[in-house]
Amino acid sequence: MTSKPASPATKPVKKLTKAQWRMRGIRRVKGLRATSQLLFAGIIVAAALRHQTGTHESTPSVDALCPFGAVETLVTLVTKGTFISKTHPSNIVLGLAVLAATLLVGNVFCGWICPWGAVQDALTWVRNKLNIRAWEPPARLDAVLRWGRFVVLGVVIYFSVTTAKLWFADYDPYVQTFGLHWAFGEAAVVGLSIVGVVLVGSVIIDRMWCRYLCPLGAVFTVTGHLSFLRIRRNASVCTDCKICDKACPAKLDVATADSKVSTDCIGCMDCVAACPVKGALKIEGPVFLGGLSTPPRQDRALVKSGSK
Ligand code: SF4
Ligand code: SF4
Repeated sequence: MTSKPASPATKPVKKLTKAQWRMRGIRRVKGLRATSQLLFAGIIVAAALRHQTGTHESTPSVDALCPFGAVETLVTLVTKGTFISKTHPSNIVLGLAVLAATLLVGNVFCGWICPWGAVQDALTWVRNKLNIRAWEPPARLDAVLRWGRFVVLGVVIYFSVTTAKLWFADYDPYVQTFGLHWAFGEAAVVGLSIVGVVLVGSVIIDRMWCRYLCPLGAVFTVTGHLSFLRIRRNASVCTDCKICDKACPAKLDVATADSKVSTDCIGCMDCVAACPVKGALKIEGPVFLGGLSTPPRQDRALVKSGSK
């Protein structure tokens, strides 16, 4: 009878602590999002290069690759049946696709796709690496400034309709940067000045453009109310540690959310990954379809005391 060969010594499996699992989750979500943002920014830059060099005449400009073009041309399209200049059916298709995604899973466009959002996130990343703190406007001022997006939206729609042109393109930091006009000797002084101001502002305040000026963000803030899936806070298990507030790049009050987080959410998932309490933050459908199955803390207390 032959004896069984001794198995090689197995390496002890290192068990991760809860905090290490959480850190791993945070890094994974951030990595996935950065990859997605880089991918879309790369596609836009490649399209702009092909368009600018004229090597492929059919390549659309960055104007045609922006879902906001659908908003800018919508009134003219409905009332006159025509597109304003530089907009195409592609804008409508992209606009509808982004709207459908928003209605289903919320505003993931701003957090995972928009190249201008990626630029601002990159600035935040560099600033954090340099250990420089951002300035956070007081809550009241922040709430007032967020209305700036609706003012910009109103102005853009007004001038798009009255001029029948893509009026905003000359001022839009996304078009001015990713259109690469500056690299081909077509730099517009006003447009580049706005880019400069917004870049400096985004170094000082996290996602300054998205929070206070982006007209597309204003649209998402409204349509987000109809989103099927939303991030919800379950007050019955939340410990009010506020780690989610610190993680949120849009600087939203997640820790005090009355179940659904604000529609200003950009769907980055940083809060969900950072939350140390299982089930405190979840992506869920409407309550009538089983979302937030555990009643909020105060309701639970009432149920226990028999008052409900
Ligand atoms: S991180 Fe989680 S437990 Fe802490 S306040 Fe936010 S939702 Fe509540
Ligand atoms: S609420 Fe959460 S998912 Fe939304 S922007 Fe803030 S951290 Fe990201």
